[in-house]
Amino acid sequence: MTFEHHHFDTRAVHGGMDGLREVGGHVPPIDFSTTNALPDVEVGGLSYEELATGHDLAPGRSAVYQRLWQPGVARFEEALAGLEGTEGAVAFASGMAALTACLIATVSVGKPHIVAVRPLYGGTDHVLASGLLGTEVTWATAATLGASIRPETGLVIVETPANPTLELLDLDEIVAAAGGVPVLVDNTFATPVLQQPARHGATLVLHSATKYLGGHGDVMGGVVAGPVEWIERLRQVRALTGGLLHPMGAYLLHRGLRTLAVRVRAQQATAQLLAERISAHHAVARVFFPGLPGQDPKGLIGRQMAGPGAIIALDLAGGYDAAARFTESCELVTHAVSLGGVDSLVQHPASLTHRPVAGDAKPGAGIVRISVGLEHIDDLTADILAALDAAEKVTPAAELTDADQGMLAAR
Ligand SMILES: *Cc1c(COP(=O)(O)O)cnc(C)c1O
Repeated sequence: MTFEHHHFDTRAVHGGMDGLREVGGHVPPIDFSTTNALPDVEVGGLSYEELATGHDLAPGRSAVYQRLWQPGVARFEEALAGLEGTEGAVAFASGMAALTACLIATVSVGKPHIVAVRPLYGGTDHVLASGLLGTEVTWATAATLGASIRPETGLVIVETPANPTLELLDLDEIVAAAGGVPVLVDNTFATPVLQQPARHGATLVLHSATKYLGGHGDVMGGVVAGPVEWIERLRQVRALTGGLLHPMGAYLLHRGLRTLAVRVRAQQATAQLLAERISAHHAVARVFFPGLPGQDPKGLIGRQMAGPGAIIALDLAGGYDAAARFTESCELVTHAVSLGGVDSLVQHPASLTHRPVAGDAKPGAGIVRISVGLEHIDDLTADILAALDAAEKVTPAAELTDADQGMLAAR
């Protein structure tokens, strides 16, 4: 049975489950085999050749070796592709392994130039800025993107909502400006529940599956959804470089997809209320949340996104010291990197996730990012307001006078 004509929520629950009923099963079995018994030498050799060049497992062929093909990983990929509306998907050991595969696939066809729109996830920014994978980056805005494209441009990379300031990019506009160059959208923050970039012409949709797709903070993974020709190249990169997803991770991510829609919608509803309730606090200079008035000037919510998501960023009036005090004063909300899980997390992007980002592109020192979980809104509000009270008491380090400096030097 295919579920293509069912609603998103139905596909989220039933995607990638083909063939289980026929064998009297209900959830996917976890196959930890690293190798597979071969029927004969001929089939073994042909199977190896096909899989190592990026083809899918054909009927009558062997999976050969876990690095080449794995049944639970393939189920997760099929389910995710069904949610993003793409021909296929390829899963990796992490979001960064997924991005790395996309960059290698781009460089290897002789198109090493990348046009990227900041802000991006800190690790993405770092790998592009470093040129480690043989790419050369031009940083652009939505407005300068078109003029930044060259004959050797292989990929345009954008992220919306942006990390950590949650600005929204108009994907129709980005794809038009890219003029036929493939556009990769990091869809980690929105998830396919709220945004399906391929429907707006994006070629590749990337997720850190570690975040919302897994949703419980207990599995690392990455996945790229896209058209068949890219899927084959990415499978080949995975087979040859080995950044593969473990079968246990595939099982947990596939299970995570089944509750994705309800989790994201519930977290989003709480985030909306929380953003409204904390905006007026004196410690807050600005709340970044696309669901607040004036923060979606292009009207993308409704047209491109089904809602504002569940990440909030705050710019604290007291700068770095207030941000540090706020982060350390949250009790229910855990001070930790990452996002998208069932429990709320808070972190300070400038010193943590965006630490490697160049000075002029780094988020402000007063900015903190909250990933809103599934806790009760009143408990979250109380925790955040108490931490804001603590942050308000911090007086930013006063400017030192020359006399003060002299005294300090004399000690
Ligand atoms: C976490 C994250 C990544 C990197 O994913 P990992 O699974 O940590 O490798 C990429 N993009 C975004 C938006 C992220 O939040």
